[in-house]
Amino acid sequence: MLNQNQSLIFESSKEGRIGYSLPELDVPQVNAEELLGKAYVRTKAPELPEVSELDIMRHYTALSKRNHGVDSGFYPLGSCTMKYNPKVNEQAARIAGFAHIHPLQDEQTVQGALELLYDLQEHLTEITGMDEVTLQPAAGAHGEWTGLMMIRAYHEANGETQRTKVIVPDSAHGTNPASATVAGFETVTVKSNEHGLVDLEDLRRVVGEDTAALMLTNPNTLGLFEEDILEMAEIVHAAGGKLYYDGANLNAVLSKARPGDMGFDVVHLNLHKTFTGPHGGGGPGSGPVGVKADLIPYLPKPVLVKTEQGYHFDYNRPQSIGRVKPFYGNFGINVRAYTYIRSMGPDGLKAVTENAVLNANYMMRRLAEHYELPFDRHCKHEFVLSGKRQKKLGVRTLDIAKRLLDFGYHPPTIYFPLIVEECMMIEPTETESKETLDAFIDAMIQIAKEAEETPEVVQEAPHTTVVKRLDETLAARKPVLRYQKEQAVQNV
Ligand SMILES: *Cc1c(COP(=O)(O)O)cnc(C)c1O
Repeated sequence: MLNQNQSLIFESSKEGRIGYSLPELDVPQVNAEELLGKAYVRTKAPELPEVSELDIMRHYTALSKRNHGVDSGFYPLGSCTMKYNPKVNEQAARIAGFAHIHPLQDEQTVQGALELLYDLQEHLTEITGMDEVTLQPAAGAHGEWTGLMMIRAYHEANGETQRTKVIVPDSAHGTNPASATVAGFETVTVKSNEHGLVDLEDLRRVVGEDTAALMLTNPNTLGLFEEDILEMAEIVHAAGGKLYYDGANLNAVLSKARPGDMGFDVVHLNLHKTFTGPHGGGGPGSGPVGVKADLIPYLPKPVLVKTEQGYHFDYNRPQSIGRVKPFYGNFGINVRAYTYIRSMGPDGLKAVTENAVLNANYMMRRLAEHYELPFDRHCKHEFVLSGKRQKKLGVRTLDIAKRLLDFGYHPPTIYFPLIVEECMMIEPTETESKETLDAFIDAMIQIAKEAEETPEVVQEAPHTTVVKRLDETLAARKPVLRYQKEQAVQNV
């Protein structure tokens, strides 16, 4: 059944109806065949819908309503920090001097933009406790790869080419082992202990002369702060390895603790998470990387420097790993992050962390009465629950996630981290009100009740969405990405 928000733009096409008005052609018409050659000229008109401007307006507005975003509802997707993106950031990013400049312009004509980038680097250096920051990487995973390539260059410059292994805990974000592999390392997994933290004994066992680095996601993907970081740093440094901090979710520690002070040599941040860059739909993002002094020579070039003549890109970096991104990073996202940092100030950034952690703990405690809590400890910005209890009743975590759609919520991350059975990873973020948190908790409690009393309601969810359960394997293997006339109706 289609409702009025589900217009079928192709099917409502009427021959000859147009949605534009252009002046009469007053220049000689070109001969397309002469201009392009016969092979490139259409013999048949394209099958495009012929509709009015109002029809097309309604079509796109209807499509936009089928999407869920932070601006339309609560989005507790763990390890993604789907927090509010302040609109003042958008205003700053649209200032003509930022939005309309070209990356090939002479440096002297874009000094203001370069100053912003330089100041952002300085702020992030201070926030992370590192010695220098590059803004080039376009995302978190890209930052990880960039950091690892610098570590690799460092070891090679010291003649330590036998350091081929990167140690990654089993509670790490999935991009960590992937980036290590892409950077040409072999990954070694270190186990978590019964508290959900890195097992130091296991770490001691795997560390050695072949260790290039330990990559630590902190807080880990269970939302837990790794309490033995100082000891881990000692173990890895004593063996000659470097320490990498995955700081994608810095809203767990921002203004409270700095990776640089904990002994880390490299850290990446996700400006599209903690620092409010919008990151729906796959980007653009920004994944700056901070390093300690001994890794500065390997930073991607060009490096933005401040001289007496102004800001300037330095290409003379013989030990640099080279460019990792065309031009200077995703400038617009960097403008948004700069605006956010300046509008929050140090006290505001501290409040971010306090509220992110408070919200997550509040939600965790209230839900722990209804779902299994595998690690009963204070969490940071996110926490994990297990749907094991509900699974015994025939309701899987996937069903719970689908049922949440009926309540108008984006589901949490599910089945990750892999070390928790029927895992749900929930990140409320600091920008939600207590009322919103309570409403989500109530929905989760109701679903837990339904699992006991009317499991079929959960098993068959969602009931209210435009599309019901998808065949996810088929959708991944054979995606239908454009309109296909014969399938249109059955796909809606
Ligand atoms: C999101 C995230 C990443 C990956 O960042 P992308 O920008 O998606 O590449 C890495 N680590 C952690 C802990 C994350 O939450």
